[in-house]
Amino acid sequence: MFTLRSLVKKFILLAYPFFWIKSLFESKCCPKVRVIILHDIRDSWLSPMHRFFEAIRKDFDFITPQQFMEYMNGEFKLKRNSILVTFDDGFKSSKLATDKCLAPYNIKALFFACSDFLNLNDTDGKKFTADKIYAGAMAPEQIGDFQLPMSTQDMKELLAQGHMIGSHSSGHAWLSKVADHATLEYEIISSANKLEQMLNTKISALAWPFGSLDSISTEALKVIKQRYQWCFSGIRGTNVPKQSDFIIFRECIDIDNTLLFNKFICHGGLSLFYKGQRKILHEMLTKDAS
Ligand SMILES: [Zn+2]
Repeated sequence: MFTLRSLVKKFILLAYPFFWIKSLFESKCCPKVRVIILHDIRDSWLSPMHRFFEAIRKDFDFITPQQFMEYMNGEFKLKRNSILVTFDDGFKSSKLATDKCLAPYNIKALFFACSDFLNLNDTDGKKFTADKIYAGAMAPEQIGDFQLPMSTQDMKELLAQGHMIGSHSSGHAWLSKVADHATLEYEIISSANKLEQMLNTKISALAWPFGSLDSISTEALKVIKQRYQWCFSGIRGTNVPKQSDFIIFRECIDIDNTLLFNKFICHGGLSLFYKGQRKILHEMLTKDAS
């Protein structure tokens, strides 16, 4: 008997060669950038994470956040398809994973952090992760040490190593549910101002919390545009120069998935299903501009 899981597995096995060949062809004629999202990384994921980067680098170059922004402005030329690595939330374990798994490949990442999360003690950090990042779907007692926040010093070390910092809002709010403008400004604008002050670096990018279409609104996009040059979504798709002067598409990767599934994602196997969402987001922006 076929379970849904086995059917999905069969589909990926059958479809993977098609997406791989398509992606290699694109890489030669019109290379693009896929931006991947990672979150907290538990110790047992470090080996699979190594294997993931080792496998991915055969078909992709890794682009730095600075090069990516230049590329989107039409000022940086890719040699072949490339990957930008991003981490959301500001977990200390993402920094530890960077030291162990990104440094050997000289990969520079973009870290989107919640300004109210940084520097919290263990009790408050676990409460923030449970209540805000998991939106109450987990209890603080279920949160592991790998889901605790970075400190200011951690972030400064990342900057010194050539990584970039962006905002993930102040308190990981569900922005489409924020009714009053003052709270939107606190979540979106104060977060960048606080990070800039704390780290003495320019904050020009925001990744909105949860990253989905139902977690963003036209009103929130308008406030983001006032403060930031780049708005990173969680909606899947590739990125090419001047596709938008503002919105970036990203592919969520779960290191716990099979390597084949993650390679399938990097070669664009799921982005086809997000065409409608990319269109709606574009319409929200057009509405925003009118
Ligand atoms: Zn988040």
